[in-house]
Amino acid sequence: MRKYVIMGVQGSGKGTHSQMLAADFDLVHIAVGDIFRWNVQNHTKMGAQVRRVMAAGELVGDDLVESVVRDRLSGHDWNYGFIIDGFPRNRRQAEFFLESYDIDGVIALELPDSEVRRRVFARRLCAGCGFNYNLIDSTPEVPGKCDACGGELVTREDDTEEALQVRLRDYHEKTNPVLDLFRRKEYVITVDARPPQEEVQQDIRNQLGLPPLKLEAAPASQEASSQVGEEARSA
Ligand code: AMP
Repeated sequence: MRKYVIMGVQGSGKGTHSQMLAADFDLVHIAVGDIFRWNVQNHTKMGAQVRRVMAAGELVGDDLVESVVRDRLSGHDWNYGFIIDGFPRNRRQAEFFLESYDIDGVIALELPDSEVRRRVFARRLCAGCGFNYNLIDSTPEVPGKCDACGGELVTREDDTEEALQVRLRDYHEKTNPVLDLFRRKEYVITVDARPPQEEVQQDIRNQLGLPPLKLEAAPASQEASSQVGEEARSA
């Protein structure tokens, strides 16, 4: 059983690296932000409660976040473990988490704020399937359309300069101290998130003692298109 938490500032690649680990090690990827976004997109009661807070880049209240995490984890729908992305984001959430759950490791992705801005403003989300794109390295085959489902690519409502400032401030003030708390009790690995995606993923696996990433050799004719698909994955 492998149970991990992944932490990092916006745009550091938490979603991408969680998905890569989840796919290879059969882990369930639990992204609290995705759960809220799903509720907003589907106009649920919870969506109505969190929409404004999210669009402003602020943190959703701890009671609601904790009940979402508790409900999600009570499902026990994993055989091999899970990776939690986007939680805990402050001291209270971390204490709640540490009281109730055991984890095997915390992955801390590090990225300077200047690089965060560059990555976040290049981020697009498919309105249909939720797939993440990053226009720095690649563009979809048809501009503005998702390669996977043809859905429209949109900017996240909270990827604005104002909301990003709030989120960066919160990250440094509230989320960084969580890492200090974890460092005292849990196994924390620190990973430089600036190198290319595969290098960052290898670094995570080396430090966690996991088998390395298998880089499949694509036939020459497929190489270009599969590269676009790979590089489009980002968070
Ligand atoms: P993310 O996709 O992780 O950037 O999360 C998007 C938004 O969802 C955040 O800006 C918050 O408004 C909300 N959110 C996600 N996770 C949490 C959390 N652990 N605590 C409070 N708010 C959260």
